[in-house]
Formats: sequence, structure tokens, C-alpha cells
Amino acid sequence: MHFLRQLFLLSLCVLSFNASAKIQESLVPGGIALITLDSTQGKPHFKFNNKPLLVTQQDGKTIAVVGLSLNIKPGEHFISGYYGDRKQLIKKFFSVKDKQYTTQNITIKDKRKVNPVKQDMERIIPEQKRKKKAANFWSDETADINFLTPVNGIMTGSYGRRRVFNGHPKRPHSGMDIAAQKGVAIASPAAGTVIESGDFFFSGNLIYLHHGQGLITLFAHLDTINVKVGDKVEKGQIIGTVGATGRVTGPHLHWSVGLNGTWVDPGLFITD
Ligand SMILES: [Zn+2]
Repeated sequence: MHFLRQLFLLSLCVLSFNASAKIQESLVPGGIALITLDSTQGKPHFKFNNKPLLVTQQDGKTIAVVGLSLNIKPGEHFISGYYGDRKQLIKKFFSVKDKQYTTQNITIKDKRKVNPVKQDMERIIPEQKRKKKAANFWSDETADINFLTPVNGIMTGSYGRRRVFNGHPKRPHSGMDIAAQKGVAIASPAAGTVIESGDFFFSGNLIYLHHGQGLITLFAHLDTINVKVGDKVEKGQIIGTVGATGRVTGPHLHWSVGLNGTWVDPGLFITD
């Protein structure tokens, strides 16, 4: 009898876990806003800061998933758009709270990776153009927003940290670092297309995937890359392995998630 009761409680736990496995709203810099739309009025076309927004279904509702940049000001913001071919403009308001991220000091042995020389800049500038283009990629297909964790490892939750490299303040951390050994497999968190890949000065071997409607994932510092630009990947497909290429202190995966052209906290998308 006691055993049956435990089994019953265990099954309840499993059920409640599955029911909560969906992306989480987080109305802070680096978070996401989930804004309910009225799809009975026609196909929604909404934008934030002039960037088109991902629209999907969750819990039987149509929602816009809005990426909030790390430098968004706390306070009232809105998305705007229209339904179908009626061009009557509608605004939907939401409120962003403040969030203070911590500061991290990092020591990098290769000084050129912190203060690049002229010849490095000749490589970095075109790479940054390619990265910007990949981060702002858009096509209309349906997006799967419920992600698998890409690597079995220790997630640092380091998104948003202000970082000081060898005493020089640099841009805040735009992704999550997952510590794992060199050679550990990296799985695609959702179905998508490879839109950029290569060996970059800071990011090392990297891959950008597009999962639909501007939802982008970036994987950096890889040891090996198993895919090429244009490939379609399945959810869970191995795309490469963890490495220590680019600006790193040791082997780990740097994983970023982008929406409407801005990097947000990847932790909000993990539902496995
Ligand atoms: Zn990182």
C-alpha cells in the first residue's frame, strides 16, 4: 500500500513537471516578454524596435515572444503591429523591471585576445559583420521555442555578467557557459538551419542555427564542427563537440540565444 502511494505521488510529480515544461517570461533586461495576441483577427504582424517578432502558440494562446536586450531601460515599453491585411496599428504595452548582474574578473593568457593588434582587427572586423548578419537573420517558418539542453555539463548561469578581462571592462556576457570536457557532443536544441559557421578570432569554431522567425542559437569555442552552412538539423542532432578555441580559459560551450536581433538568457528556453 505504501509502495502504491509512493508510485502515485511519483507519477503526479512527473505529470506536473511536464505541464510546466514551457518557456518562462522574464520581464528584465536580457529576459523575454510573452505577449498574448488575438489571432481571430487575422495573422499577427508585430514588431519591437522595428524588428519583426516571433509569434507562436502556447497553452492554446497566440503569443509574441519578445527578446529584451541587456541595455533596455526599466519601465513601460510596447510592441506594435496589426492583424491580417488591416493596417490599423495596435500597441501592446508591457513593463520591464531592473536587474543587476554581477561582475566577473577573467584572466586571459593570450593578451592579443583582449587587446587585439592591427593585424587581428583586419580579421575581427569582417567577422563581426558576419556575426551581426547571422544574429539578425529572419525567415518566416514556424519556430520550436522549447529547447533541449545542448550539452551535458555544468551550467554557470553566467548570462548578463559584466566582465573585466585582464583589468579591461568588456561587453557583458551575452550567453551561458556550460563547462564540459573537450570532445563532449553538442546537440541542436531544436530543429533548425545552419546559417553561419567558421573559425572566428574571439569565438573560435562557431555555429549559428536559425530555428524560425528570428530565433537564433550560437555555439562557440567548439573543438569540431559536424555541420555546414545550409544544412537542416533535427532537434537533438549532434552538430559539433566542446572545445577551447578562441578567447577561453578552458574547454566549455558558450551558448547564446537570440530573438528579434538581441541576445537573451538561454536558461529561459530550456524545457527538457
Ligand atoms: Zn561565454
